[in-house]
Amino acid sequence: MSATKTLSEARALLSKAGGVLAATEQALATAQEKKDLNAFLELFPDSAREQAARVDARVSAGDAGSLAGLVLSIKDNICYKGHKVSAASRILEGFTSLYSATVLERLLAADAVILGRTNCDEFAMGSSNENSAFGNVKNPVDPTKVSGGSSGGAGASVAAGIVHAALGSDTGGSIRQPASFTGTVGFKPTYGRVSRYGLIAFASSFDQIGPFAHTVEDAAAVYSVMAGYDPKDSTSSRKPVEPVTLAHPGKLSIGYYREGLERAGMDPEVVAHLQAQIDRLKADGHVVEPIAVPLLDYQVPTYYILATAEASSNLARFDGIRFGHRSKVAKGVDETYRLSRSEGFGPEVKRRILLGTFVLSAGYYDAYYAQAQRVRRIIRDKTVETLNDHDLILSPTCPTTAFGHGEISDPVAMYLQDIFTVQANLAGVPAISLPTGKHSNGLPFGVQLTAKPFDEARLLAAGKHLFGR
Ligand code: GLN
Repeated sequence: MSATKTLSEARALLSKAGGVLAATEQALATAQEKKDLNAFLELFPDSAREQAARVDARVSAGDAGSLAGLVLSIKDNICYKGHKVSAASRILEGFTSLYSATVLERLLAADAVILGRTNCDEFAMGSSNENSAFGNVKNPVDPTKVSGGSSGGAGASVAAGIVHAALGSDTGGSIRQPASFTGTVGFKPTYGRVSRYGLIAFASSFDQIGPFAHTVEDAAAVYSVMAGYDPKDSTSSRKPVEPVTLAHPGKLSIGYYREGLERAGMDPEVVAHLQAQIDRLKADGHVVEPIAVPLLDYQVPTYYILATAEASSNLARFDGIRFGHRSKVAKGVDETYRLSRSEGFGPEVKRRILLGTFVLSAGYYDAYYAQAQRVRRIIRDKTVETLNDHDLILSPTCPTTAFGHGEISDPVAMYLQDIFTVQANLAGVPAISLPTGKHSNGLPFGVQLTAKPFDEARLLAAGKHLFGR
């Protein structure tokens, strides 16, 4: 176990000379000890130690940044200059980043230490971390269970006590679902609030980088450093970032989805837990009432049509010519494209490229892609409308707790894991998973809060004060 779980505990040790380096050594040793989880694809001991020594010097000089003492892991789809990045895919094996993502530049400037890159589903496609080309991640709470996906290594690296915080990416739930499965806090900011520059694209109109941590306070500390306009990302927002004070948000109006809770496939304990939270919040004087879910049955299909369409286009750049894996047996240009991609991509990525290419094809574009765009607009408008009447939406993060490795083999059943999480990405709004539940099977699970676009400050404050995280 690392010596500290949170940034404030880590800060308390900073008065000792060499405190950050000591924390980094400890984290490296813990990662080594917990190797069997397969949470890390690679540790960065040299650059982590160099950064730790620099931070220690700044601590001694009295000018350390807000994240001095924080040890962080990064998902293997975020570029870090001079370090390997693979999106957990064979097609990028051996590729080294030529530049750093904006978020990493900001975090390093605030004195965070980056420990290593974490395992994930290939190109962030999945809900269980079973699609990585480099093996499953085991859930630290129960290694026979998955850690969730696609940021499974990120969630596990925090839950196992290796790092204080982790960066993940969330396209349809990939931060919040593994947070729920591993008993950590997982936060997806508003689309455009955090720069995507240097994030390997999956579905560009959905992707968002966000933190995992043990507490809302630490998630907020990491978020606050990353948030804000970046000229290198044309979809990043110029709206000023509201400071996160974590002051008590007062009495709130909260909507919840009754029809979502009545669905088949919901674990009864997850439903009972949400009901207990609703009763508690009401008793505390908040207004909590049922609201209509915008097109619940259409959310997952809409997400999978649009996300696969965008993925098929984004992944066209992996052609065996410009970077990454190139087939050794291919002859000629056509065969180089075909064989490099056939050898380099795993089965789930291929399935999505095929699906995406199909929904974008001339004969089917109107029936699928254009129609899904219209449905997305309705879901977004209705979500924002609901959030104009209510401060927050409360829901379970996932229908169940973590499942066993290999337990869900039907891709459509796996896609339904995302029933509560895709709405925030379809609508571009912020959402957080808070580890409030403990199932009789021993596994943790979360509740999800969703807020209006750019209302991160209130969302985080509510997470801390209403749910004690
Ligand atoms: N589980 C979803 C998918 O497989 C979400 C993935 C993500 O958020 N990156 O697409």
